[in-house]
Amino acid sequence: MKLLLVVACALIDADGRILIAQRPEGKQLSGLWEFPGGKVDPGERPEQTLIRELREELGLTVAEPCLAPLTFASHAYDDFHLLMPLYVCRRWDGTPKPLEAQKLAWVMPNKLRDYPMPPADEPLIPHLIGLL
Ligand code: C5P
Repeated sequence: MKLLLVVACALIDADGRILIAQRPEGKQLSGLWEFPGGKVDPGERPEQTLIRELREELGLTVAEPCLAPLTFASHAYDDFHLLMPLYVCRRWDGTPKPLEAQKLAWVMPNKLRDYPMPPADEPLIPHLIGLL
């Protein structure tokens, strides 16, 4: 089965809240909430992907040393297997803006379960609760 490498990031603010984004209509899994990120392009390191995606999706500038690897998700969808490292970031420049028409929410880790997520993302929640 095809392996898809996607990288995601938990941006954590000074109050310990985590930024999640709602997948817009027209995309696969639309309406579900996810940690920002995206597909790793050929030749890219996951950190480079995150820096690119956080700029494209949210207008944020992130320095690579501010990205700390936490864990990864692995999930078999019907037509591909998703491998998704999760990074944590507490420092960035700018204020997140929904540049791709996605809704954004800052959520305390113990409230993340109130937001429906793709099956790959859900197992990441306990790691974020354990972190704070
Ligand atoms: O975001 P994008 O559509 O490029 O991601 C490709 C696929 O990876 C999605 O259709 C979804 O199945 C999966 N995905 C996920 N959780 C994410 C991001 C992507 O399960 N946070």
